[in-house]
Amino acid sequence: MTYIIAEPCIGVLDRGCVDVCPVDCIYEGPDQLYIHPEECIDCGACEPECPVAAIFPEEDVPQEWASYIKKNYEYFEGGVERQVAQGRGGQASG
Ligand code: SF4
Ligand code: SF4
Repeated sequence: MTYIIAEPCIGVLDRGCVDVCPVDCIYEGPDQLYIHPEECIDCGACEPECPVAAIFPEEDVPQEWASYIKKNYEYFEGGVERQVAQGRGGQASG
């Protein structure tokens, strides 16, 4: 299981979710952020932080955004190196 980011994130990208993720498993996409399905520990911390309610447990993604489940998984396919999203704080250390 994983959490999925759906359509409402597009164009918002405020990164509130990134700041609270304990395992840094939220990655930069060209249009939205994506949650790594294997790194996510299903803690749920990100869900209430999203101002536009774009984040759902995989099994609770609304039907209208079901395609975002596939989109999220596909983003991490192919062994391509992805960039972890930076939070609003912005200070990357290390
Ligand atoms: S559920 Fe937890 S581990 Fe998964 S993306 Fe959200 S904050 Fe990160
Ligand atoms: S908090 Fe919501 S809108 Fe903001 S970056 Fe995360 S998923 Fe996108």
